Amino acid sequence: MASFVDQAKIHLHAGKGGDGAVAFHREKYVAAGGPDGGDGGRGGNVVFVVDDNMTTLMDFRYKRKYTAENGADGQGKRSSGRDGEDLFVRVPRGTLIRDTDSGALMHDMSDGEPYIAAKGGRGGWGNIHFATPTRQVPRFAKPGLPGEERDITLELKLLADVGLVGFPNVGKSTLLSVVSKAHPKIANYHFTTLYPNLGIVYADEGKSFVMADIPGMIEGASDGVGLGHDFLRHVERCRLLVHVVDASGSEGRDPVEDYEVICRELRAYGSDLAQKPQIVAANKCDLVDEENEGLKKFLEHVEAEQIPVVSISAATHRGLKPLIDLCLKMLSDLPPAEPFEPDYIEPEAIPETAEDIRILHADGEWQLEGEWLKRVAASVNFSDYESRMYFDRTLRRAGVFDRLESMGVQENDTICIYDLIFDYHF
Ligand code: GDP
Ligand code: MG
Repeated sequence: MASFVDQAKIHLHAGKGGDGAVAFHREKYVAAGGPDGGDGGRGGNVVFVVDDNMTTLMDFRYKRKYTAENGADGQGKRSSGRDGEDLFVRVPRGTLIRDTDSGALMHDMSDGEPYIAAKGGRGGWGNIHFATPTRQVPRFAKPGLPGEERDITLELKLLADVGLVGFPNVGKSTLLSVVSKAHPKIANYHFTTLYPNLGIVYADEGKSFVMADIPGMIEGASDGVGLGHDFLRHVERCRLLVHVVDASGSEGRDPVEDYEVICRELRAYGSDLAQKPQIVAANKCDLVDEENEGLKKFLEHVEAEQIPVVSISAATHRGLKPLIDLCLKMLSDLPPAEPFEPDYIEPEAIPETAEDIRILHADGEWQLEGEWLKRVAASVNFSDYESRMYFDRTLRRAGVFDRLESMGVQENDTICIYDLIFDYHF
């Protein structure tokens, strides 16, 4: 079965935050000025944006690493480093962004909103922040935090506006090939194995829509296999179905019977597929005249169900314009394709141990470092009480305070955890 998913695995690296500066104010005749080292700039984010001119993930085959700019380091004279530029990565609308390791869906680029997939690191504080009444000459500043790094998988599901359904040999492929003049860029691509059955229908007045032939949709029906689940997932997002029927009965089949079998299959799938708006294309009308009993009976049957029906001949191009016009008209009244709900992504498990934390100690100042700690510290909002309490509990549970106490921490000693500085109280 044809694959309707285009995939690309790429690596994102957001910019590192710039380091804070250690500097002191110098002025003529002033012996020792105060600290004036500025902060580092924020690292650039990696941001995904929708580009409606893109229809494939082909570009990602050639470039796999996406790195945003680092923030600049802080300087003396209180000057902050410049923030790193965000890196914008363009993707086709409907691209799904997944975490490669867990497979969890991070975002669906259907709504057109930009999405930050990797956050730049915060800039470190310059020593200007670290002066206290008892420590007037802070000879340290904070390094910038690293930018997030992520392996992600881009996935583009078929986002066809119109899905062609029907029995084999009724003329779906023929119809698609005559109504869609493939976009030149897709053209090459589309005849590879990726999108053998996807085309863009350019109608008048610059309007266009995507049509997909859904081969094999019903192929299993006749031998009792039914619709492939996987396959149907791809069509679920179609906004409109064009149900192609061989109305001439050219292969000795009964069009009414064929039509009903397909409708039953759609209902049997159990999603809202059967409720999708439908147009019936009564194909191969070149083989029969309008007075043909079978054709008349078929058209009446469909009309009785209040389903719009258009008589066409894909082979001789008859009735194609009315069919396309009707598709456009119905699509213009339909809501856009629905985005998927992102899966819940488990927060990163926090190891509850202080063992992998390094503690440096001098003159009543304690500096704590460690990967885990860095993440916890970066997530705390110190202006928020709940957040501070959470931080406190997390450190306590992990045994950080016990360790400090066993190393001889004193009341009012200074604790430095990356950006955070506070006094120790028992
Ligand atoms: P699909 O299996 O539904 O994709 O059907 P195809 O497009 O492959 O067509 C099956 C056969 O029907 C081919 O031999 C086509 O040439 C033929 N066919 C398709 N449309 C028409 C039509 O409008 N009139 C006639 N006479 N033959 C057609
Ligand atoms: Mg076909």
